[in-house]
Amino acid sequence: MTSTSVFVSGASGFIAQELVKQLIQKGYRVVGTVRSSEKGESLQKNLSAAGLPSDNFQYEIVKDIAVKGAFDNALEKHPEVTVFLHTASPFHFNVTDIEKELLIPAVEGTKNALNAIKAHGPQITKVVVTSSFAAIGDFGQYLDTSKTFSEDTWNGLTYEQAKGDPLSGYVGSKKFAEQTAWDFVKQEKPNFTLSTVNPVYVFGPQAFEIKDKSQLNTSSELINSVLKLKPTDEVANDYTGYFIDVRDVAHAHIVGFEKKEAEGQRLFLANTAFSYQTILNQVRDDFPQLDDKLPKGNPDDADKWKKTEAPIDNQKTRDILGFKFIDFKKSIDDSVAQIIA
Ligand code: NAP
Repeated sequence: MTSTSVFVSGASGFIAQELVKQLIQKGYRVVGTVRSSEKGESLQKNLSAAGLPSDNFQYEIVKDIAVKGAFDNALEKHPEVTVFLHTASPFHFNVTDIEKELLIPAVEGTKNALNAIKAHGPQITKVVVTSSFAAIGDFGQYLDTSKTFSEDTWNGLTYEQAKGDPLSGYVGSKKFAEQTAWDFVKQEKPNFTLSTVNPVYVFGPQAFEIKDKSQLNTSSELINSVLKLKPTDEVANDYTGYFIDVRDVAHAHIVGFEKKEAEGQRLFLANTAFSYQTILNQVRDDFPQLDDKLPKGNPDDADKWKKTEAPIDNQKTRDILGFKFIDFKKSIDDSVAQIIA
């Protein structure tokens, strides 16, 4: 057991809730930022209902990470914090002003977090920023088999291109936010070491019971959308992406500050590639009660797209983390079981 205090920005998010749960399970104390007291109270109640010591979780309200000084008060109030995990960032495509709603909060939010540490958290020695595969490769390259994506790769999008459409806006937001963090470390030479966690599509169950199943967070909604298909719907069978389970992503944030080998590293979290058809096949194999409710698609063609996908090499990350990733079957099965419960 340890009494280390860990600060988690965006604690109400899909990944962050699993992270807070694992931190509390490991005996850490957590200070999480949320946008409203309702979200903070709900997290506290969920931890308690899961039999965890919810007294070890406190929350502070940060309504908008993009506002200058956003984290200053919260950090000033918690001189006990020695680890800062910055997960908060907009992850959705439902925007009208791409720069204001995606790029600025991601980049300014990261700056505000790091400047708050500089001004009010000199005791903080470890920072982990949640970045993304989006910072590693841009979507146009995912089907270029001559490319290999690794911890050393960056997407080539310019800031101007990022303003072109919401998908590019998100991809750019992650690239420029991550660069902001590495630049800060280079220029400021702070007391802390930095690691980033760069996940592909994150699947797996929500940390706590789902209250509203109509629309889940962006990556989980992909599985939810398969479950919303009607028997007569067409099923696309092209490459969709690589997946990683949320429990591994949360675990990687913890290794990111616990293990010396993770200092200064980009932890590239990717397991296997998938398409809508592979999700559908998995669901149909393991949930026969959904047989009549879902389309069949073309089950035998599920893997046809595989030769077209750009390979990933994240052996360096796997070696640093030292744990085995949760496989596709378990990730999908646990997600679906929770949604249909
Ligand atoms: P999520 O559930 O939407 O979580 C995002 C969190 O950030 C929420 O707590 C949200 O608060 C908060 N947030 C967003 N904009 C904010 C703002 N302007 N001010 C204050 N808080 C703000 O998404 P997630 O999947 O857990 O994503 C968490 C992190 O992982 C993000 O950095 C995302 O880019 C990264 N990531 C996710 C995936 C994935 O597939 N899920 C893959 C790669 C990287 P509210 O909910 O209150 O708005």
